[in-house]
Amino acid sequence: MSEPYCVLVARLYHESNRLNPEPTGEARFLVERGRDILQSPSGVFKGLTETLGAAGIKIEPIFSAGAPPSGLVNHDFYLRLRDELLDAVRSIKPDAIGLELHGAMGTTETPDAEGDLLEALRLVVGPDVPIGIGLDLHAHVTRRMLDNTDICIACKENPHSDTIKCGQKVAELLIAQLEGRLTPVTVSAFTPMTLPGACDTASGPLAEIHAKARDYAALCPSIKDISIFNAFRFVDDDEMGQVVTVLSDGRDTKTASLAVDLANRFWIERERFKDDLLAVDELFDLIRNSPEKRPFVIGDMGDRVLAGAPGDSTVLLSAVLDHYPGLRGALTITDPAAAARAAEAGMGATITLPVGAGFTPGFTSRLITGRVDHVSDGDFVLDGPFHGGERSVMGRTAVLRVDNRLHVLLTGKPAYSHDPAAFTSQGLVLKDLDFVVSKSGYHFTLNFAGRATPVLVNTPGIGYYRKGEFKYEKSRFWPEHNIPAPTIAARQHYVGAALKSMRETSE
Ligand SMILES: [Zn+2]
Repeated sequence: MSEPYCVLVARLYHESNRLNPEPTGEARFLVERGRDILQSPSGVFKGLTETLGAAGIKIEPIFSAGAPPSGLVNHDFYLRLRDELLDAVRSIKPDAIGLELHGAMGTTETPDAEGDLLEALRLVVGPDVPIGIGLDLHAHVTRRMLDNTDICIACKENPHSDTIKCGQKVAELLIAQLEGRLTPVTVSAFTPMTLPGACDTASGPLAEIHAKARDYAALCPSIKDISIFNAFRFVDDDEMGQVVTVLSDGRDTKTASLAVDLANRFWIERERFKDDLLAVDELFDLIRNSPEKRPFVIGDMGDRVLAGAPGDSTVLLSAVLDHYPGLRGALTITDPAAAARAAEAGMGATITLPVGAGFTPGFTSRLITGRVDHVSDGDFVLDGPFHGGERSVMGRTAVLRVDNRLHVLLTGKPAYSHDPAAFTSQGLVLKDLDFVVSKSGYHFTLNFAGRATPVLVNTPGIGYYRKGEFKYEKSRFWPEHNIPAPTIAARQHYVGAALKSMRETSE
């Protein structure tokens, strides 16, 4: 019997918001190494590794490194991880490489960390070792990434309920390529625009574009995947926009026109990508007037930790303290100093202190008085389904009960509040509350399903794109810029060609 194929796997997961003034250093990352990372994987990495394992592939796990979305990653830390991976590839000499990457990781020196990583990997392994990656659909997917991967695909749903499936597909395609049953060829098409809203894939224009993509794939047997990347709006790079990729088995002359057609649909439908957010007063009026729908879970769009904002807003806290005396709720505020002060005061102590606004430019802090109800190290495990089973760290966390009705979770680090466990792990009971605030725009609807009524609110902060609010030096896209009707063309990606041009320039 021949030796089983050996596939090297790793996970490097970060969505980097360049507007967050705090760089993301090693301390924010949870890094695990070796076989431990196969014990309880989640998402793309779970699908990838379990499918490879079930097929009898020998898996070489290197590391899993991830942090909640936040500011640009410290470049030296990124380089250390990159070099660790390259060294492992050099010594193991795998038959293929399978990675979970977010796809929108920027460092303090480059907006395209994944492109840099994949190019470096390709230079080490050459053109013949397949590299397959599974990405978030909000990846900032670049030419450099596509030119250096054999398989580069995204999950298809927002909120991301199909990440495991995405990982399974990466594994299946890699195995097919290793066994000589697949010659992956990718074409892409790019539209210079962002989606101001309507980013949910279950309804509206995105649902229609995805349905069309499924129709095309069903009609064309050579097509193995169509991925639709909706960009990460807080990156600033030469090409930032919608990207459609079509991966086929061998070259198929039809795929280019299908990619262009799908990318064009974004432009044609652009005016329909609008959000339907409530203003802060509309939100709390709704909660006050709808007791039958309580508890509500509020997506605080401006301060979305899931888009890399710091989570230090006091806007909703102040609104409810000043204008809605009856409402009971819970919310997180990133404030390491206040969390430490409350923890040191101890359970049962009543303290007065300013909270919040330590990171986001333009935010103001709020003076509150409250009783310390709970103190912890802030570690918890997410209920899921999104990130389900994953460990999360909020840092030292203290719950302050304010006005006997508002539970303010002061956290040492930005909290993953898109999951109920962020609150229940701190002793709170959702059904005793009128609302909880989640610093997420979409994924919280999955994780709170059946437990609270979701609603989105238009709040200030760096987690929500508003035309004209942020400075873009390199990107040019609708609606931020005045873009004439674009000529959308297909681009062919050849692994070998990318490598050849790289070798020529490095010579
Ligand atoms: Zn995403």
